[in-house]
Amino acid sequence: MKQIIKSEIANLPTKFGKFKVKAYKEECQEHLAIMSENFTDLVNPLVRIHSECLTGDTIGSLKCDCSNQLDLALALISQNGGLVIYHRQEGRNIGLVNKINAYKLQDEGYNTIEANLKLGFKEDERDYSSVAFILNDLNIKKLKLITNNPSKINFIEDLGITITQRIPAITSINKYNKNYIETKKEEMGHLF
Ligand SMILES: [Zn+2]
Repeated sequence: MKQIIKSEIANLPTKFGKFKVKAYKEECQEHLAIMSENFTDLVNPLVRIHSECLTGDTIGSLKCDCSNQLDLALALISQNGGLVIYHRQEGRNIGLVNKINAYKLQDEGYNTIEANLKLGFKEDERDYSSVAFILNDLNIKKLKLITNNPSKINFIEDLGITITQRIPAITSINKYNKNYIETKKEEMGHLF
């Protein structure tokens, strides 16, 4: 069992509303649970497991739909109550340098999966053990999951947590992310 260090819970006002946050540190990586103010009163919260994407979330890259999905999730949990777990596994857990190298391969015509495979990775290298720790720490037994990703649905169900509803994270398609979204849909089974 990995050792995970927890922070206290603190207030964090944002442009989406007021949240409470709790940080989790595993080895060299840190994750953040972002909770609506009423989170502890909820028995069936909205939950989004958001995978870190520096290029999308921070600098507004149009090559993916991460920033739009994060904005949508924060707005939904602010309005309806819930939790966003900001899972720090950049580039489906290959890290930023490898992700940018994969982007270079995409510039040359490879799709998002082919590029990762060409660099010697699996199409998805993410490890959800720290997410399992956080869901358990926050005592979540059932939830409404905001996702398009069937592997996240399977992961939650395997933990013995009931998914009462799946809410799709539908965001806009542009000329830069069209191929990426189609690859996720057609080759990774994502639901839209
Ligand atoms: Zn992204």
